Amino acid sequence: MFQHYPDQNTISSSLFSLCTSGFTTREAGDMRKIQIIKDFFQMGDIAPPKIVILEQIHSINVATPDPLHLGDVEILEEADGVVTKEKGALLVVRVADCVPILFFDPVAGVIGASHNGWRGSVKNMMKTMIAKMEALGSHAVNIRIALGPAIGECCYTVDTDRYILFMEEMERFEKLIFRPYGGAFRLNLTRLNYELAIENGIQKSHIEVFPFCTSCDSDRFFSYRRQYKKHPEQFGEMMGYVMM
Ligand SMILES: [Zn+2]
Repeated sequence: MFQHYPDQNTISSSLFSLCTSGFTTREAGDMRKIQIIKDFFQMGDIAPPKIVILEQIHSINVATPDPLHLGDVEILEEADGVVTKEKGALLVVRVADCVPILFFDPVAGVIGASHNGWRGSVKNMMKTMIAKMEALGSHAVNIRIALGPAIGECCYTVDTDRYILFMEEMERFEKLIFRPYGGAFRLNLTRLNYELAIENGIQKSHIEVFPFCTSCDSDRFFSYRRQYKKHPEQFGEMMGYVMM
């Protein structure tokens, strides 16, 4: 189950109760700024030995932090996913509408985090993340995942070109992820990532899906679609984080 902790500006999944983990709400601030990320953990009394931050580029590149890295922040360039067995490394992904996904295998002791926008989703970032965790000794059957706050089908309209692009890779899920909408389509990115998780061996009972939409729920979330062009001064990004 997901729980919202308003006093901590965080939403957390019970599947991750053995980890330090969560998804921030907009009250926590704009996580594009590294200082705000640091302050968030300091104020929350979390004090991670190391914060691992991705310079995200809408790819399916998955990086691994360096256990020998010195300093309290490690930046991984050109990556949209990260996996590790390193205890005390706090993995961060930043989003506003894209799907943030946290991964945890309590058996092998492996964690991961990924940023799944439409580009990463259509290229099957989910499959890549699971493969990278398995390369560290994990098995899909043991992996827990939490799909955090993202834009819902209610607000995510895409044009026919985008639809065709998805059909080339994801036609098998068409009925589950697309709905015709006034000459265009509505796309359910969270559902696509859910289906890809099942297809790649994750158990249903190990998947948690956050049910509200970042674009609709303006009190709790930043939203690229809602704010970026019309109200850039109000825009920001939230983060998903996980640490063993
Ligand atoms: Zn919505």
